[in-house]
Amino acid sequence: MSRPIQARIDLNALRHNYLQAKKQHGGKTLAVIKANAYGHGAITCAKALMADADAFAVASIEEAKLLREAQVLNPILLLEGFFEADELTDIVANDCWLVIHAQWQLDILLAAALAKPLNVWLKVDTGMHRLGFSVDAAQQAYMALTRSRNVNEVVMMTHFANADNLRSDDTLVQLTQFSTLLSDVAPTTSKAVDVSLANSAAILAWQASQKSALPSNKCGTVWSRPGLMLYGVNPLSAPLSAETLKPVMTLESEIIAVQSLNAGESIGYGGLFTASQETRVGVVACGYADGYPRLASNAPVMVAGVKTSVIGRVSMDMLFVDITEITQANVGSTVELFGQQILASEVAASAGSLAYEMLCNIKRVAFKYET
Ligand SMILES: *Cc1c(COP(=O)(O)O)cnc(C)c1O
Repeated sequence: MSRPIQARIDLNALRHNYLQAKKQHGGKTLAVIKANAYGHGAITCAKALMADADAFAVASIEEAKLLREAQVLNPILLLEGFFEADELTDIVANDCWLVIHAQWQLDILLAAALAKPLNVWLKVDTGMHRLGFSVDAAQQAYMALTRSRNVNEVVMMTHFANADNLRSDDTLVQLTQFSTLLSDVAPTTSKAVDVSLANSAAILAWQASQKSALPSNKCGTVWSRPGLMLYGVNPLSAPLSAETLKPVMTLESEIIAVQSLNAGESIGYGGLFTASQETRVGVVACGYADGYPRLASNAPVMVAGVKTSVIGRVSMDMLFVDITEITQANVGSTVELFGQQILASEVAASAGSLAYEMLCNIKRVAFKYET
């Protein structure tokens, strides 16, 4: 018998979520599988999506090479382009697409002698102020790219800072900036401009970023870039209907010991939890070294099919769950930390974190892929 913690990965749910994103957005859909597919395993996830995915996106050529070595043949976009000029050889050799987000990258690309022209996504900063050309500089950059012998297709892209906040106007402001730019650029080119705007939150919440809402006389191909929703996590605070997204990762373990506390007794490091009455506690083989958030000391958890909560301080290899009311719970009982029944976003939120961060951190556990 080995340590009972495992992450079950439902690859059918992953495919379902990808197709949902594609349907909802209406354009082409690039599956974002950076950071080891948000902790789910990039190669296995890519293989599961290979037949459907229009393209994949990762954060670096190193992440892309792992996919190529695993025979993933779909286009792969590098979301931050290159960090140093000498990556360009590998980028061409591995047939990747490239984001160009800054003048220094553009200068290097235009001056390079590439064996083959690349598809380039020109990143425009419409208000997030993280990466991208200013709206004013973008038109010139676009023209320079379309004229370069190193460049094949160009996609004009932007990224939203606040699309998960339905009460904020930021997304509409960014959309307006982008539309204005599009209106300036479109007349200067002989063909429609390929564009990409929407991440998961925009796909789910902002109709105006979807294919049907963009001006068809100016836009060519419209790409969406879902990440989090592929893994079945809703980035919005408003709930979605259950069929929209299916959780992909279920983190499960077991109770390995049971403790009985009298009123006034504390448990675990720092005695963070003190029993106010007789309390039965399950000790679970899951800790922060597995990626479970250390601060999630009141998170919801499922024990033997019954919802209860984590108590006390999460330690490196173990945590505590209150099983006072779950009389059938005992050593060996199944514990779902999150997944099918407990929302990953709720657990992360209880630690002041996000499902994004929590999922990326899951490690040391056995991954069990289910097709
Ligand atoms: C990570 C990333 C995405 C995916 O975002 P989600 O919120 O996970 O859907 C999309 N676009 C860019 C540029 C990204 O870096």
